[in-house]
Amino acid sequence: MRYGPAGFVPTIIERAEGCRMYDENGRPILDFTSGQMSSLLGHGHPAVVETVSRSVATLDHLFSGMVTRPVVGLAEALARTLPESLSKAMILTTGGESNEAAIKMAKLYTRKHEIVSFDQSYHGSTHAAGAATYSLTRAGYGPVAPGNLIIPTPNSYRSVFRTRNGEHDWQAELDFGFAMVDRQSVGSLAAFIAEPILGTGGLIPPPEGYFAALRRKCDERGMLLILDEAQTGLCRTGDWYAFQHQGVAPDILTLSKTLGAGLPVAAVVTSEEIEATCAERRFMFTTTHVSDPLAAAVGLTVVRTLEAEKFDSVARRLGERLTKGLRELQSRHERIGDIRGRGLFQGVELVMDRDTKEPADDYGTAVTAACFDRGLHLNIAQMRGVNSILRIAPPLTVAEEDIDLALDILDQSLKSAKD
Ligand code: PMP
Repeated sequence: MRYGPAGFVPTIIERAEGCRMYDENGRPILDFTSGQMSSLLGHGHPAVVETVSRSVATLDHLFSGMVTRPVVGLAEALARTLPESLSKAMILTTGGESNEAAIKMAKLYTRKHEIVSFDQSYHGSTHAAGAATYSLTRAGYGPVAPGNLIIPTPNSYRSVFRTRNGEHDWQAELDFGFAMVDRQSVGSLAAFIAEPILGTGGLIPPPEGYFAALRRKCDERGMLLILDEAQTGLCRTGDWYAFQHQGVAPDILTLSKTLGAGLPVAAVVTSEEIEATCAERRFMFTTTHVSDPLAAAVGLTVVRTLEAEKFDSVARRLGERLTKGLRELQSRHERIGDIRGRGLFQGVELVMDRDTKEPADDYGTAVTAACFDRGLHLNIAQMRGVNSILRIAPPLTVAEEDIDLALDILDQSLKSAKD
């Protein structure tokens, strides 16, 4: 059996409940991807089920301009969890869409058009978000949007920027990136868009201090900073938002996947000033499901549940258990080159050899297939088409015993898999 990120899993899944999926023979499979990184509260969480049933019956979908309590409630709830500067929210349904809106906002506000991102970023498959996306193939779709520029992803494990004693010289890498941006720019730099921990592009947490330095580069150039927390937002990394760990705040924040805990809910959050200026300039971003009461009600339930059960500290505690277990596996499996991430958002990079760091491409595919056969679903964060980084992102409701079980299955699969 071989399946990659673009392939199908050769099993029919009949139902999903909590942290498990069940195939048509009733075989349980641990869901350590939270669906598509989204099912933050597990499958069929009672509060979400109740919200959906109630909303469908009482207030499902209205004309886009209608104001409803769930929309106001979600905007207020998000503001409560965010720095004061991020107080204005727009409710949408998907991640790509939220980044389209954020990019349009940044262009309108700055009256500029160039968008800069990391060379392994993922922001969506739609046009502007896709143009700022570099972790999957771009070939075959003609020229991308004009004015998209990149800087190197600060990957401490693989970067060629090293100090004399071999440490990651991320400041030199950032300076180099912006020197190239400045040379290529036509003087119209609008925004930098980034994931605070890159997900799809290889589960890469930029080094501490990096984002503060990046923020300064943006400020010096009058660029906005857009942070896309589709995967990292809402407690998964042990903080409410991954940007908090980096000690920076974005000008525009986009949330999606985790906000709906498996249902389509997204948000763009920004400051009063940016919102007011965009409104004055007749900002245009509408969709059939903008401000849907049902989506907003789900988002509100997710935020309230995270708050009530303090899921930020839960993710931190469970993340420590996961890291400890992964480090123990690393001490016994030579092929584990690197372990990284925060909270319940971690990556395991497999290599042919720890010295050469050659990616163990086929082995990565074989390990995920072996895990699946044993009842654990993990997926691959695909760095430049290489299938060697396992992404581990279980729901925050995962039991400690299930983390231990997953580590055990991974251990056996690392032993049995052949490349
Ligand atoms: N941003 C990030 C960081 C993502 O991981 C994704 C989805 N993989 C998106 C945006 C796009 O979200 P959607 O698929 O809902 O459009």
